[in-house]
Amino acid sequence: MPNKEDTFEKELKNIKIESKKAPFPDIDFELENGTDDNTINDKIVRPNTSTSLFDNIPDSKELMEEKKVDDVFRELEKTAADLKIHEAIEKEEKKQQKSKKKTTIIIILSVLLVLSISLLFLSMYAYKNREEIKKAAKPTLVPTLEPSTSVTENQLPAELTDLNSFQLLVDFQHALSKDYVPANLATPYLNSTTDVIQVNAEAGEMAKQMKAAAESEGISLTVTSGYMNYKEIEERAMDIISMNGEEYAKANGFLAGYNEHQTGLALDFTDDPTNINNTAAFKDTPAGQWLFAHAHEYGFIQRYPEGKESITGVNFEPWHYRYVGVDVANAIYNKGVELNDPNYTFEEYYNIEK
Ligand SMILES: [Zn+2]
Repeated sequence: MPNKEDTFEKELKNIKIESKKAPFPDIDFELENGTDDNTINDKIVRPNTSTSLFDNIPDSKELMEEKKVDDVFRELEKTAADLKIHEAIEKEEKKQQKSKKKTTIIIILSVLLVLSISLLFLSMYAYKNREEIKKAAKPTLVPTLEPSTSVTENQLPAELTDLNSFQLLVDFQHALSKDYVPANLATPYLNSTTDVIQVNAEAGEMAKQMKAAAESEGISLTVTSGYMNYKEIEERAMDIISMNGEEYAKANGFLAGYNEHQTGLALDFTDDPTNINNTAAFKDTPAGQWLFAHAHEYGFIQRYPEGKESITGVNFEPWHYRYVGVDVANAIYNKGVELNDPNYTFEEYYNIEK
């Protein structure tokens, strides 16, 4: 490809050659008015034509410049077009950024909305169920043994494992299941610190007779608690644990599934209807002493006697009596007399090793 500029130069040369061939234009010289020939050379001589031939010949420089201007224009046009495109792109980018920002803000707002709604519902739920949550927050004792009601591996007598037996054994090795509710629960009238005392019907009938006998001797007996379901025991156990710790709860027989009150065969007594008084001091009250001497006659035994904590696994509880039936209660009592051990236990009687 021939260079543009070369072509241009060539053309320019041609023009100049052509112009030299052309006849030289006539130029008349005019003398200035009032001047003589002598001064003619001193006077300004100017051509009477206003143009010269060369004026019409495009100067290579001019041409070059025109060309350059064209180029510049083209360049400018191009630049302008580029600028327009660039502007458009920028505009589009800004638009996209804006919409991106919008989308991000919408997402953040939606997330915040969802979060606050969840929080609202959560706090509403928490408020509604504050009691349950409080309870759940309390430490729970996980029984070390699966609650079982048919323990045969220890070769225990059947009456100790039969759920309907008055001798049903409940201790830390022999638990009652969550769902165990004894049959034959009744609500006999027993002077009590609570409105209604639930107890096994036979045990309740015998307790009534025992209470009447005590009263005939001027002893007032008041029942503070009878049957308790698993949940009630669990709640009490949790309260005790949260106040005094797990060891204390266990030492006092308060672990859900391991408490005799779930059998409906245990009753707690006090001598003062206005005071539950489930303390060791009950032992020395007239009511405590009377029960200790006569309960067996009505089928009851002191289940956790003094000094036998290592055998029963539970602290001394002079107020807690357990119905085992008149025959067994008498047998245990007589064995104690025979062994000169007034605190002879249910465990010892059945030779239950722990
Ligand atoms: Zn009790």
